[in-house]
Amino acid sequence: MTTWIIELQRGIDYLRKHSPKKALGCLKTALSACPSSNTAEIAKIFFYLGVTLKKLGLNDSALKSWSIGRKIRKNGVSGKMYSRFCNGYGMSKQPSCDMDDFKAFYSVQLERYLLSKHSRRFGTDAEQDMIHDLILDYWKALKKSGITKGKDTAEKMALFRSINIIFPFFVVPETMSDTVIPVHFGKKKRISQGDRCFCGSGLPYCQCCGRTPGQQELINGLF
Ligand SMILES: [Zn+2]
Repeated sequence: MTTWIIELQRGIDYLRKHSPKKALGCLKTALSACPSSNTAEIAKIFFYLGVTLKKLGLNDSALKSWSIGRKIRKNGVSGKMYSRFCNGYGMSKQPSCDMDDFKAFYSVQLERYLLSKHSRRFGTDAEQDMIHDLILDYWKALKKSGITKGKDTAEKMALFRSINIIFPFFVVPETMSDTVIPVHFGKKKRISQGDRCFCGSGLPYCQCCGRTPGQQELINGLF
């Protein structure tokens, strides 16, 4: 039997035995060795990878895995998991809408900050703490202003993106502009967050190809 099939089976077995760490290793090997033409099996690996990551508490990464699985195979199991655990921002669902909003705001600002650095990484824990506190202060002020009230997800996302936190001078942005404007070339128009995604998934853009990467994804450099 081919290596990747064995590794996939081992991964599934480890999952059943509640050893997600071991399962992760096997599934990664299976994924890298599985021929790219075998889309059904690749979609299956992404599904199990998602389950494994979820068990490891890496909710954002799990969602990312299912989002890939869902794109490879429409109406597959990954899609079901994705819609079950995904919120309007395309991020992992939080216990409250307020937390959903906060996580989205946090990720938007964190991504802006990290993209301004060549390394795309925090240099020290102190730097990470400082940026965290700064984003939190802006969030508190934003909540206090009541400006998010009555807005839908797409409107809130546009608002979050419009807020430019002034980050401290010793972490001077290395790039001047980081704005990406999504455009549907076929329709020759800009895509707004609430529009149906151009990939044909039927989901809103901000829950699909325009989903907001979570904190773990950003810090681990997965964007
Ligand atoms: Zn899409």
